[in-house]
Amino acid sequence: MAIDKNTMRSKFNEQIQLILMNKREDNNAFLSTSDYSRVIQQVKKSKKSLNTVGEKKTTKDYRVIRKYDILVMDKKEHLIRPIDEKNVVLYYATIDELFDILYDTHSAIGHGGRNRMVSELKHNYCNITNETIMVFLKLCAECHKKTACSKIGVAPKPTLQPTFNSRGQVDLIDMQTQRHNDYRFIMKYQEHLTKYIVLKPLKSKCAEEVAYNLIEIYTLFGAPSILQSSSGKKFVTSVINKLHVIWDEIKIDYGWPKHSESQESVEMTNRDVQEMLSAWMDKKNSLDWPSALKFIQFKKNRTFHSGKSPYEAMFGCTARINLATSS
Ligand SMILES: [Zn+2]
Repeated sequence: MAIDKNTMRSKFNEQIQLILMNKREDNNAFLSTSDYSRVIQQVKKSKKSLNTVGEKKTTKDYRVIRKYDILVMDKKEHLIRPIDEKNVVLYYATIDELFDILYDTHSAIGHGGRNRMVSELKHNYCNITNETIMVFLKLCAECHKKTACSKIGVAPKPTLQPTFNSRGQVDLIDMQTQRHNDYRFIMKYQEHLTKYIVLKPLKSKCAEEVAYNLIEIYTLFGAPSILQSSSGKKFVTSVINKLHVIWDEIKIDYGWPKHSESQESVEMTNRDVQEMLSAWMDKKNSLDWPSALKFIQFKKNRTFHSGKSPYEAMFGCTARINLATSS
C-alpha cells in the first residue's frame, strides 16, 4: 500500500492536538479516554439521582441525561447519544479512536471524499466534526494522487456531448491469487456518463463468459453504442462477436479508450474496488470475495463523483436501503 498508515496516524494525532489547544477545555466534540470514563460515571450517577425518590436532583443531572446514555455491548460500556424516536444508535468516539474510525470508514467507501465521509460517519457517531474529517482527508496520499491524476487527465473541451450509454467500458481485475470457488477474475463494467459500475465474478477471461455477463447488464440498462476496454481491441472484438451471437438485435461497435479515460484512471478504480473488497473481507473475516462484489458495487455507486453519486446520476434519486429513510 502506498500510504504508510503509521506516519499518517502520527501526523493526524499531532494536528488534532493543535486543534485541541485552541479549543475550550470543556468543548463537546473531543473526548479523551479519561473524559470518556468520567462521563460514563457521571451518567450513572445522574441516572441514579433522577430515579431515586428523595435524592437531590441538580440541573447538571438533567443536562447529562439529555446528552448521554450508556449502551452495554459485549460487557463493555459505550457512551451514546440518548436514542430518539428514529431508533439510531450514535456513539461518542474518543480522541484515541478517531484515526482508526476515519481510516476504516475511508477505506470502506473506496477513498470517498468529504460529503461521503460526513454522511457515512454521522450514521454511527455523534461527535466527529467536519474539521476532524478534513484533517484526515488532507493527509490521505492516495486521494491526493487521484486529484492530481484527474487534473492531468481532463480533456480540454469535449467535442461531442456524451449521452447515457454512448460508451461502456469493460475491464478485468485479476484475482487469481485469491481464487475462490473457481472464481478468478472480476469483470468491472462502467457506463461512462453516469460512472455507474457493475461488478461480476468470472471463472475465466473467455469472451463468452464476459458476453453472458454483459447481456445481463444490457437487458437491464440497455446496451452502449461503443464498447471499450483496457484489455485491447482483440479482446473487445471477440466479446462483441459473442454478444451478436447471443443477441442478434444488439448493435455495438468497438471504441478506443479516449485520453480522459486513460489506463491510469482505470487502474485507480480497480484499486478502489480491490481496497474496498479487502476492507470488507477483513471486517467479515471472510475470503468469499465473489459474494462481496454486489455490496462493493452498491457502495461504489453511492460514492460521490463531483457532487453526484453514480446511483443518483443513473436513477435520479439517492439509494434507499430501508423503508424508514425518507431522504
Ligand atoms: Zn483517500
